Amino acid sequence: MVTMSTVPKIWTRETGLVEKRDLFAAMKRGFRGRCPRCGEGKLFRAFLKTADNCSVCDLDFTPHRADDLPAYLVIVIVGHIVVPTILWIETNYTTPVWLSFVAYLPFTFFASLGLLQPVKGAVVGLQWALRMHGFDDNPPDGIPPV
Ligand SMILES: [Zn+2]
Repeated sequence: MVTMSTVPKIWTRETGLVEKRDLFAAMKRGFRGRCPRCGEGKLFRAFLKTADNCSVCDLDFTPHRADDLPAYLVIVIVGHIVVPTILWIETNYTTPVWLSFVAYLPFTFFASLGLLQPVKGAVVGLQWALRMHGFDDNPPDGIPPV
């Protein structure tokens, strides 16, 4: 038996009639620290602080909600590089402990620092391309503003 819902629909046909944004291009622009829409303006005004808007196309960056996702992604990426490398080295070679600390810890530290801003930019680009949070210029009814 099929029952019809009386809940008002949020998504309408008009809501879906928006231009498609290129996800890969937006993430690549964000990874390079550029505006996900135009690829020209700077995305960051400090290390991890996004600018308020694009200096070229005036895209508002404030609706992004990257939160902790870039840090989690950096942990996954760096962990998948560091852990297998250390395991391979430690099982095949005998290295002194001091050399391990001098090599592994700085590499992990600087790789994490180096990836944090690009990954955050890519996350902002992803959110813009998928119209997440406040990046949707035609939001459906019933969703409160951010
Ligand atoms: Zn721009």
